Amino acid sequence: MFYFYLLSKYCYFSQNTRVAMKKILFFVFLSNFLTAQNEYPKDFISPLAINLDLSGSFGELRSNHFHSGIDIKTEKREGLDVFAVADGYVSRIKISTYGYGKAIYITHPNGYTTVYGHLQSANGAIEDYIKKNHYDKKAYEIEMFPKPSELPVKQGDVIAFSGNSGGSGGPHLHFEFRETASEKIVNPLHFGFTKFAKDKHAPDLYGVMAYPIDSTIVNKSQRPISVSFNKQADGSYLASKVIANGKVGFAINASDKCTNAYNRNGLYKVNAYLNGVLYYSYEFDKFAFDESRYINNFIDYEKYQKQRQRYQKLFFNTEFPLSVLKENKKNGIINTQPGANYTLRVEMFDFEGHQTNLFIPIEYGTSEVVFKKEENNSPYFLKSKIENNYSKDKVSVYIPENAFYDDFKLNFDVKDNVLYLHDESVPVHKNITITFSDVEGLTEEQLKKTFIASVDGVKLSYNKTYQKDNRLSTRVRSLGVFKLAQDSIPPRIFNVNFVEGKNLSKQKTLSVSISDDMSGIDSYNAYLNGEWILMEYDYKTRKLVHDLSDKKYKEGRNDFKVIVTDDLQNSTTFESHFFMNA
Ligand SMILES: [Zn+2]
Repeated sequence: MFYFYLLSKYCYFSQNTRVAMKKILFFVFLSNFLTAQNEYPKDFISPLAINLDLSGSFGELRSNHFHSGIDIKTEKREGLDVFAVADGYVSRIKISTYGYGKAIYITHPNGYTTVYGHLQSANGAIEDYIKKNHYDKKAYEIEMFPKPSELPVKQGDVIAFSGNSGGSGGPHLHFEFRETASEKIVNPLHFGFTKFAKDKHAPDLYGVMAYPIDSTIVNKSQRPISVSFNKQADGSYLASKVIANGKVGFAINASDKCTNAYNRNGLYKVNAYLNGVLYYSYEFDKFAFDESRYINNFIDYEKYQKQRQRYQKLFFNTEFPLSVLKENKKNGIINTQPGANYTLRVEMFDFEGHQTNLFIPIEYGTSEVVFKKEENNSPYFLKSKIENNYSKDKVSVYIPENAFYDDFKLNFDVKDNVLYLHDESVPVHKNITITFSDVEGLTEEQLKKTFIASVDGVKLSYNKTYQKDNRLSTRVRSLGVFKLAQDSIPPRIFNVNFVEGKNLSKQKTLSVSISDDMSGIDSYNAYLNGEWILMEYDYKTRKLVHDLSDKKYKEGRNDFKVIVTDDLQNSTTFESHFFMNA
């Protein structure tokens, strides 16, 4: 408000007041900058009673997304008290097999919502609320939106116990801040948590890549090429000289460690200066969930697919909307001119301001080509801004507009009922639809068990497939080879943790393992004496577990039944019985 007021007020002034206005504007910008650093409330307590050693940072580069919170290590164990970081109320609870697992959302009066993920269980009234919901809805996967009056919490209340539920690779707490109104995710470290998380380590650099744009030759190559570098005595990195006869872009493979953790976390901020002028920069303060998939254009996706290394680019070919990009001159592409020398200085920061610099000297020069650009002779030039359809031999592909980041020559062919749709090196932003029409030679029953599989060598993987008459369709977000396959094998139920007919009065749980080899588990239901009982599913251990303290059993004989169904509706039933004392 202050800023706009000043602007409109000073707009009427004459030419000679311009200098004065500039000074005022500079002051306004400076104070805006300062308040931007301090606008976040900091009166939160830590969600855990231990040091906050991070195994994941905000914005960190993950598979198809930027990490939306921080991951706090929990001493390799589960069951640590998780505290409400401020007063508020539980506004959402989501229990899912994948993703955040068991997650609790607390809305605070200051406009922010905190999220606690991969929990083992909730505590007290919150746990009771969840249990009741499981039994009301007869499901493990549930989502609830309690009213503000239902589950109020005070700062420091133990709301839950830390765990490893959902898509978690080891015990930790996923902790997140959102703007309640916009649901945008904000870097949690802005809210004063750095005082619990000690990081004295500056970012490390593992690789530098140069990218010739169009027909430029960079260090004798028309293909992306690695640039060597050395660590200097002052801790900065100096790359070997890059010789280019035109447009070139760069990417870095870099990460940051916390003092007490070995994990390679993401960078907070990168500033690239060309001859001292800020040229390209980004900063992980805040972003929206629907921007997250742009990670695939933010990194060198092809390199990641082939070598599992994430190089974050300092340029892009086609404009794309990613709000963490703060400065972008000429898309970060450097157009070298005859006789000119350049230095690209890349500053890499962690959240606490520890800085590592990389200097890349660049010189204009022509050289013979040793590594020629790989030419693709495909007749299908795909313009990414428009929708595209391809079909051959009863197989068709529909690609909506903006499904790809750049235009390219798409390889498309159908041979012996197999669809060859380019390869996985090109990232796909939106679902594309693949349809096999007039599928012949299958009975109605076989058709129901047929799906469009992704083929990777001899390995087939399942895609959810929709059938209408003799037509099968699926929506995918990756390119590659596709063909029809069948799954008529039902799931397996095994590893039952009790012997049939035994007295289980001293036992705490009932558990079985379940698995499915192709289309995957779609549903699972368990019954005790005909009544539905809750069994929690952990796909990592393949276990379904019922807690006998839910007290759903009766005295004497209890009949236990589990039904597991895969995505193509192949089903397996297991039945047994046991005895209980009163
Ligand atoms: Zn996480």
